Amino acid sequence: MIFIYPPIFYLADMRHKYLIQIYSTGVEDRILEDLIQSLKTTFNAKLSLNYLEWKDIVQFYNPMRKQVNASKLIYWLSENISFPPNSRMLVLANIDGYVEGLNFVFGISNPGIGGIVFTTRLNPLFYGEEYDDYLYRLRIFKETLHELGHSYGLTHCQNLCVMRFSNSIYDVDRKPAHYCTKCQKKLNYHNPELLKT
Ligand SMILES: [Zn+2]
Ligand SMILES: [Zn+2]
Repeated sequence: MIFIYPPIFYLADMRHKYLIQIYSTGVEDRILEDLIQSLKTTFNAKLSLNYLEWKDIVQFYNPMRKQVNASKLIYWLSENISFPPNSRMLVLANIDGYVEGLNFVFGISNPGIGGIVFTTRLNPLFYGEEYDDYLYRLRIFKETLHELGHSYGLTHCQNLCVMRFSNSIYDVDRKPAHYCTKCQKKLNYHNPELLKT
């Protein structure tokens, strides 16, 4: 007897091939909801929203620097979050982060694991400027694409591209909120059907 797999089941399964697990702490819900909508326009992925407890983050807080040790935090999270196949974690933390040797980082990532975006320095208020909701949300979206891009295997890119390295908030504002053609090709090659076309 020949058994034929029903193709519709296979197609339905492919739709949820990728999962992005968002973990947030200290970031307003309306900003997270906006981010989820933006990510849905970019990725063919299921998105889940979870909350981290502040104590999970502050265990890596360095009171001398008034910042969180990003390397230690991402390592701890990668050990304490469960990762279904083809999933990435995306942490949004309203705190400032650093790695040894740098004054600060906007985010950090690990290939195959996911990334953290620290939102403190993405807020115009940090620079003594007037609060600008659109700008704040756009910066969060850019840094999210950037860290997720690394987690899906992209390196820094010299093109007009969200994968450009950002040394300052001016660099963040100058780069576009999308992947360049070269990075899109790389993403799709290593992660078939990840990007929405
Ligand atoms: Zn980077
Ligand atoms: Zn690029």
